Amino acid sequence: MFTATFSLHEKVAVITGASRGIGASLAAALAAAGARVVLLGRDAAALSGVEESLTGQGYRATAAILDVTDTTHINVQFDRILQNFGQLDILVNNAGIERVSPSLDVTDAIWNRILDTNLKGAFFCAQAAARRMKRGGSIINVCSLTAEIGVPTAAPYGASKSGLAGLTRTLAVEWAALGIRVNGIGPGYFQTALTEDFYQDPKWQQIMLQKIPLQRFGELDDLSGAAIFLSSNASAYVTGQILYVDGGLLAAL
Ligand code: NDP
Repeated sequence: MFTATFSLHEKVAVITGASRGIGASLAAALAAAGARVVLLGRDAAALSGVEESLTGQGYRATAAILDVTDTTHINVQFDRILQNFGQLDILVNNAGIERVSPSLDVTDAIWNRILDTNLKGAFFCAQAAARRMKRGGSIINVCSLTAEIGVPTAAPYGASKSGLAGLTRTLAVEWAALGIRVNGIGPGYFQTALTEDFYQDPKWQQIMLQKIPLQRFGELDDLSGAAIFLSSNASAYVTGQILYVDGGLLAAL
């Protein structure tokens, strides 16, 4: 009973931004739970590396190119996925970028690049997926603490993630009738290419660790359980929620 509840056997899961970091790790988690995973991103070589690593472990993984800011190509790529796999059950909207900048210096180009990737891209991927989830499904948006708290020098990023949190609730309510659940995972601090610059500063690390109740930064595998839970029947009655995986940081702020 326990295994069946969390199993993703017979499910097809699409993960955007799966070429490295959190996306690659979430793809591995869903594959380990039994899903066939489709790895989307812009970097063909990096995606192939993730694909090879997963198939080498006996999992079913296929890489394909998608820039989530290319809204025309999104529908083309999701059509291909449906043709190749015959179904689509899970979408993880993970692709995201950040550019730390004092708000006084944010340009039109920076604003558009971040919002187009983190919010507009996520919406149109969700729309493309929902149109093809004929038997219902689960959409997971990778959100952020910046949707809940003010983080200086992260104005476009915080706006995009606040928008993504709102989008999660709206789509959850609207698509419940389609049998599609929409939830979010809100990671705390995880060391990836996106956050690497912070980690280079020992003082930042020290200050952050004092704020995190569980007294450590996140390890990529800490997100696996939340992703499998929200993708599987274990969360059949959960929609419109954001599950923060942050070592208790949000609760302490
Ligand atoms: P990384 O920079 O390591 O990974 C980002 C991924 O997104 C890469 O695979 C990148 O692939 C992909 N990506 C970026 N732009 C696009 C695009 N236009 N189209 C398709 N793919 C794209 O960062 P993380 O793993 O840390 O971030 C993953 C998600 O987690 C993001 O949404 C981020 O906001 C969120 N997050 C991360 C936190 C952390 O502590 N690390 C905390 C809270 C949220 P490529 O460039 O090869 O195309």
